[in-house]
Amino acid sequence: MSTSTSPNAQQVHELVLANHILALEGVLDAYGHVSIRNPSDSNTFLMSRSRSAEIVADDDILVHDLNGSVAGIPDRELYLERFIHSSIYATRPDVGAVIHSHSDAILPFSISNLPLRAVFHSASLIGSERVPVWDSHTEFGDTNLLVETTAMGESLTRKLENRALVLMRGHGFAAAAKSLINALKMATALPRNARALLDVLQAGGEVTPLSPGEVATHGKADMSTPAAQRQWEYWCRRLGEPYQPVG
Ligand SMILES: [Zn+2]
Repeated sequence: MSTSTSPNAQQVHELVLANHILALEGVLDAYGHVSIRNPSDSNTFLMSRSRSAEIVADDDILVHDLNGSVAGIPDRELYLERFIHSSIYATRPDVGAVIHSHSDAILPFSISNLPLRAVFHSASLIGSERVPVWDSHTEFGDTNLLVETTAMGESLTRKLENRALVLMRGHGFAAAAKSLINALKMATALPRNARALLDVLQAGGEVTPLSPGEVATHGKADMSTPAAQRQWEYWCRRLGEPYQPVG
């Protein structure tokens, strides 16, 4: 039954397309997930049931509460690591979309002292600071490294603070943005940024990161502009989907 807090069909379908885009771009594979805060009820968020991103369909999108639960759905049908999303939304009212990925391109930066920083313009949304690394072992000892509890999600969110990105040692990353298109732009630029950094380091060169001013200037770009929508249109075309402006 539809209620006033039910998401509308376009919002649900945009999230489905985001799943497919992230699979297309190699950011999500069998694992990892993307969510948006429910525009109809900010105390809930929308995310698929436990399916791989490439095959998520509209009917898979479920309304999760900020404890990571879904009314009427057994926990075993939900993503194990949904607490990454629930904890970030509960703590960060400015966040409208979250992506968790196991992208192998960023793995070297989560297990070493190599600093991950934004080095090209498309990656400016990750900020100008060195990206912090959350190590689950610090608080939780020997685990399977998966964020399977609210306590672990809250610990990760504390490491994220007010930033857009946190790496997870030996695991992946969590990205938080004000909108779905911003989250997609950041998560798809991040592996390219990481590979560029590694290429320079392997060649023995020195890295010049974006300056704080460059990051701030790029961060002011309005993602509702035609230039930003062009990215969404490109992805829709590559997926063979009709283009509709993303909200
Ligand atoms: Zn994970």
